[in-house]
Amino acid sequence: MNHHSGYHTNNSDYKASHEMMTLLDDVRLVRNHAYINGKWQCGEHFHAVENPANNQTIGYISMLSEQQIDDAIESADQAFHPWRKLSVDQRAEYLMNWYYAILESKQDLAHLMVVEQGKTLAEALGEIEYGASFVRWFAEEARRSYGQTIPSHIQNAQLSTLREPIGVAALITPWNFPNAMITRKAAAALAIGCPVVIKPASDTPFSALALAELVDRCGFPAGVFNVVTGDAAMISKQLCSATQVKALSFTGSTAVGKRLLKQAAETVKKCSMELGGNAPFIVLDDMDIEQAVDAAIDAKFQTSGQDCLAANRIFVPRRHYEAFLTKFAESMKQIVVGNGLDPKVTLGPLISVNAAKNATRLVNDAIEKGARVIAQYQGHLSGPNFFAPTLLADVTPDMAVYREENFCPIAGVLPYDDLEQVIDMSNETEYGLAAYVYGHNIHDIWRCMRGLEFGMVSVNSVKMTGGPIPFGGVKQSGLGREGSCHGFDEFSEIKYCCLGQLPTASGS
Ligand code: NAP
Repeated sequence: MNHHSGYHTNNSDYKASHEMMTLLDDVRLVRNHAYINGKWQCGEHFHAVENPANNQTIGYISMLSEQQIDDAIESADQAFHPWRKLSVDQRAEYLMNWYYAILESKQDLAHLMVVEQGKTLAEALGEIEYGASFVRWFAEEARRSYGQTIPSHIQNAQLSTLREPIGVAALITPWNFPNAMITRKAAAALAIGCPVVIKPASDTPFSALALAELVDRCGFPAGVFNVVTGDAAMISKQLCSATQVKALSFTGSTAVGKRLLKQAAETVKKCSMELGGNAPFIVLDDMDIEQAVDAAIDAKFQTSGQDCLAANRIFVPRRHYEAFLTKFAESMKQIVVGNGLDPKVTLGPLISVNAAKNATRLVNDAIEKGARVIAQYQGHLSGPNFFAPTLLADVTPDMAVYREENFCPIAGVLPYDDLEQVIDMSNETEYGLAAYVYGHNIHDIWRCMRGLEFGMVSVNSVKMTGGPIPFGGVKQSGLGREGSCHGFDEFSEIKYCCLGQLPTASGS
């Protein structure tokens, strides 16, 4: 984001746009001030947030000062002990109230998301339900965050472990899933007993602030849930240098993740990182081509390709290659590009003009290096953030579209002859988040599941995520896991207790 665009002094009341206000039944969900210590707090300057579908300003958010970030950290720290001392049932009850409040406001939250993020209304509704599912999951799972008893190697001692909340958690989140990337972290932290300070992406702050509004309505204690907005570099510096902040959980690009890891080293924080991906999609030789194409289209074009799980490199057996491309091009005719609020639309804009320019760079680079454009969306594109979904054949590893996380609706396909070679090629990337495999032969499936160096391998299913699964990557795709029972690891510490027995007074 351009942190200098849309700066204004604090001399008027910056409300959200008429469009946002008319779209929502419950307009109080539109909050433009930060949420600190249970209060809405205004900055001295404001930043304009745009609707990516029409580049209109939808509202302004506060650019907080360093002092205000410190206040948020301090309020979270003050809230830590009372919050952790609640019973697990009491914390779970707060979370379940939040869960029901999110679901009750589902339509409004989804509309808000479409207007600030650009995804289709159906995708936004899906994300709200997905996001809420983490709140429920962790409310229930916290009851099972057991310690252990350890068979003792020390005579007359009882050995055990406790799982204890780590303290204040800083959560820094991206714009592509403005709701679920917050709930997946915050629900785990809150359920285990950690207050949170959340820094949402500046392109999509309203979804985060609406979640804070619902937290407020559910009567969470002040300081337990804070949302701060403003300059990313300043805020992350404050969060990383604060000794009160014990955990840093980040979702975003690998480049920013590396920077944050360095900053967090200063105060030795527990870091979890959900970073970029470069997912292979491997079609096995015995796969039905129509089914493979349907799955590849789903795995490629959701959220306009702006998904860390998006299929980035599609490998097809040579003997099915041309048939796959023909069918893929045919299926792409179903795509309707436009404003996500229009129910006919299946693919929304990209987040910014720069993202659309980057997509053009990727296509040009691929064509220069020998790729064929097999299909490209021919309909009208209604603004500079829109990019025509494109099918490229004969993609090669020297092309940027193959090497980089392309984060746009470009499907890059290449033929292969040998499965071992495809597994090796899939692994030749610094990323290791998710991989897809489609086929029947159990031996080939097994070779892929064992051979692919990715945190998540999904066979014959595009849908793979949800509360019960450990989401995360290997290599430079990240550190740690979110969701599942492992989601608590990022926000808790194992305390070992050795309870010995003193000799009695008689010495026996
Ligand atoms: P990004 O540019 O790394 O931004 C993510 C967050 O970091 C935003 O809140 C951003 O704030 C902040 N940020 C940006 N520059 C910063 C800096 N210099 N210092 C500190 N913080 C900074 O990523 P994005 O473009 O929003 O998201 C796309 C990336 O997220 C992709 O790489 C995608 O693969 C990854 N992602 C990963 C997962 C996963 O679970 N593995 C899920 C979703 C997305 P501002 O918005 O204010 O700049």
